[in-house]
Amino acid sequence: MSEDIKIVSIVGTGYLGKQIAEKVSLKEYTIRLYDTNIEDLANFSRKLKRRKKTLGEVTSHETIVDAVKDADLIIEAIPEVLELKLEIFKVIDGAAQPNAIIATNSSSIPVSKLENVVKRKDKVLNIHFYNVYTMPMADIMRGTKTSDETFAKGKKWVESIDITPLIVKKECYGFVFNRVWRSVKKECLKIWAGGYADLEEVDKAWKIFTGMGIGPFQFMDQIGLDVIYDIEMSYYKNSGLEDDIPPQALKDLVDSGNLGQKTKKGFYTY
Ligand code: NAD
Repeated sequence: MSEDIKIVSIVGTGYLGKQIAEKVSLKEYTIRLYDTNIEDLANFSRKLKRRKKTLGEVTSHETIVDAVKDADLIIEAIPEVLELKLEIFKVIDGAAQPNAIIATNSSSIPVSKLENVVKRKDKVLNIHFYNVYTMPMADIMRGTKTSDETFAKGKKWVESIDITPLIVKKECYGFVFNRVWRSVKKECLKIWAGGYADLEEVDKAWKIFTGMGIGPFQFMDQIGLDVIYDIEMSYYKNSGLEDDIPPQALKDLVDSGNLGQKTKKGFYTY
């Protein structure tokens, strides 16, 4: 348990927010939940409270003010839309006690793009989780004015819930591991789309090299090719480099509705 953080609010209990809440609930933290989807929030909150594994108190709230006012740490996990995140950061800053840390789980927006709307510029962080069950790690990145104290508290809290922190020393797009995975993914797509080798050969090589059970193309099929395409486009929009434009062959798969496992066909057929 972290000594400084006792109450954790999760704002946005969708796909990732739920996973974060479930992970936090395995330790004795008090958890406050808020989501605009009231029905889904109520169901999730009930489920979490009933779980034998849940150690701390769990409450769900109808207003964001109630959900964050006594929290020590607020994790924002609402959709990846800058305007929405700016709005919510401002509201949280106005409602939370002055010592609270506000963290965003954003996959791509550095907290430096959100810090201007809050007064507590020294108490903001990116804490970017991956799938908490299969990839128990989280990137931690500062804003331009985040204090060492805030960073240290955030890191300690992440460790306290049995997630490995990945320290980003200097602001960068893609944090630590997303950036590594991105370069692997980009080259794999180029090998396949350029006709240099079949994707099965690439996956085979990756599995031998890493000892992992699946290759990059199988993993992309799991994530969803529409999601992969959007992320690649987001990297391209950030860099403006032609080399970063995802291959047309990937877009063709997406346009034809072959999105991976969820549609039973992507790079592979399921
Ligand atoms: P999601 O769409 O599953 O969940 C978003 C939730 O936010 C929904 O339940 C929605 O009702 C709620 N919401 C919308 N507006 C709100 C508001 N104003 N106040 C409170 N709740 C609001 O999305 P997700 O996949 O969980 O992603 C959430 C964030 O986590 C994004 O920033 C995303 O980049 C990041 N993230 C996602 C993944 C992933 O694998 N999905 C991984 C890492 C990080």
